[in-house]
Parts: sequence; structure tokens; C-alpha cells
Amino acid sequence: MIIHTKESANIDRVQQLAKATQSVLFQKDERYILVTPSKMQNPPSGFDVIIDQFWPMSSDLQLGSRAYLNQTREVALGEVTIGGSANNTIVIAGPCSVESENQIRESANFMKSLGITALRGGCYKPRTSPYSFQGLGLEGLKLLAKMREEFGFTIVSEVRDATHVNEVIEHADVIQVGAKSMYDHGILRACAKTTKPVLIKRGFGTTLQEFAQAAEFVLSGGNPNVMLCERGIRTFETKTRFTLDLCGVAWLKEYTNLPIILDPSHALGYRYGISDLSKACVAMGIDGLLVEVHPDPSVAKSDAAQQLYHDQFSELLTAITPVAKAVGRNIV
Ligand code: PEP
Ligand code: MN
Repeated sequence: MIIHTKESANIDRVQQLAKATQSVLFQKDERYILVTPSKMQNPPSGFDVIIDQFWPMSSDLQLGSRAYLNQTREVALGEVTIGGSANNTIVIAGPCSVESENQIRESANFMKSLGITALRGGCYKPRTSPYSFQGLGLEGLKLLAKMREEFGFTIVSEVRDATHVNEVIEHADVIQVGAKSMYDHGILRACAKTTKPVLIKRGFGTTLQEFAQAAEFVLSGGNPNVMLCERGIRTFETKTRFTLDLCGVAWLKEYTNLPIILDPSHALGYRYGISDLSKACVAMGIDGLLVEVHPDPSVAKSDAAQQLYHDQFSELLTAITPVAKAVGRNIV
């Protein structure tokens, strides 16, 4: 159950209510918001004078649910707004990893020429082998910050573990929580303390409920700017890297109020079908598309097989624009 207090509510009484209901408590503007365990369906008696409104919930998908907020939350990514009534589909693009100043500058120049406003690039890479390229770390984040200064991009970069989460929060504009890191409460709780947008990727073995609940850790800490990113789950199929769960996307759209970003690159794992998949994603009326693009994928230090060449990405943008228009969306 979610409880909104009245604006004039006395903080001592609010804290007593939080204790009586075992709630997570945070402040929003002039009021307090309490989130009880979902099995509680009614506030205890004696607190009517401080309660403005309450919403009983059927599961611990609470702050992120449509039952609480029956529209997609508005999240500002630099100058661009997604969710709300904006009908925007933002394209976030760039290399898997920041590899060098030359490489990220080439990417930045190209993205700028296409009107892309959100540049991605990982600096702390969650590799499956300790012998693979692990990312440039802080040096990479500084290169991204340089690209923001020179070109005005909104910078999206990922957190691998809690040891450097504050570094990413400081240098990036959007904090990406990787698929392998989304259960890390140190990361999620640190992301709750900022108001920068947080893009949570779905773990490849994560149920939709668990995925939505990861967002609750950030939302209930007082950061309302959370987006969910479907990037493929592991199934019996081995011909593709993962399986993009579009059924899951339909569920997320129906039951959560969080902007949905789709990442066809990590799902398929190969360049050949990314453009087709992107059209399918955009046709679902999503809030964003995340695509990996590299100036020369043949020498990429991570995810080489799936990153698009520049001309392929230009073609992809041309291909998705009429699809977006057909479903009442603008590519931004
Ligand atoms: C990435 O975006 O480069 C990445 C590692 O993604 P994921 O966490 O989805 O594997
Ligand atoms: Mn990648």
C-alpha cells in the first residue's frame, strides 16, 4: 500500500505511522510518501488526520505500478522528455565500450551529424571473462564528459559494481545499471540518492516481477527517474545471443508506469538483424531504443559482432522513422 500524507502532516506522527506499518518513507515536495509491505490493505486507525490518500496494492510492484500512476512517468534526458504525454522515442546510441579518445570522438561526431542527443559508452564493463577488456574506468568517464562539453550530448554509462557507482553518478547524465548488476542493492540504493535518471537493464534470468521490484529500490529511495530496459533473456535457443522478450514488454507497458527502453543489440548479438528488430521494437510504442554502434566494429574491444557500422546505423534511423510515425511517436 502507498500512503500520501497531507502537506501539513506532523513529522513525528508520520514516523509513528511508518513504524506501525513497517513502511519505507520518503519525502516528495511538501508531503511524505510511505510504502508498506503490499499485503497491508488499509492504514491502521488513528492516523486519518495526517493521511491524504492511499492505494492498496496487489504485489510489491508499487511505486512503479499503473495502479498507483496510470500513465508513463515523465523522465527528462537532457533536453528530451520521454514518457508523460510526449510520445517521444529517444535513440540512445554509441559504442559498447569507450576505447580511446579517437574512437569516442569519431562516434560523437557521427552521432551529432545524425541529430542523436544521447551518447552511450561503457567504461566499467561487466565481462564474462577476467581476461577480456574491462573498460577504461574513470579515464573513459572523463572522455565521455569531454564529449558532453564539446557536443552537448546526454551521456549514458554503466555501473558494474558498487565500488564505482558514485563515480558514474558524478560523470554520467544517465546511470545504466547492467543486466548482471541489477540485483546489487549497493548500486540501487546509491542510485536512489541522486535524481539523475537511472536505466535498469533486465537480467537475462530475471522475471518481470523481479525486474520491476529492482526499480522499487530506486523509486522508494526518492529518485522518481527510473527507466526499464529489456535487452534479451536466456532461453533454450543458442543461435541468437539472447531472446528479446517482447511479450515482457507488453506486460511492462500494461502494469508499470516506467518508460521502457529496448536494446536489440545485446538481445540478438549479431549485426544482421538489428535494423529489423529495431522496427519491431519501435512498432510497440516504446520510449527509447538503445543501439550499439562503433566506428570500426571489426576492431571493437567488446561486443564486436553486434555493433553496427556507421552506414548501417544511418539506414536503421531511416527505417524506424516511418514506423514511429505510424504508431504516433517521434524519434528524438
Ligand atoms: C552494455 O550495454 O554494453 C551491456 C554490457 O549491457 P548488458 O548489461 O545488458 O549486458
Ligand atoms: Mn555491449
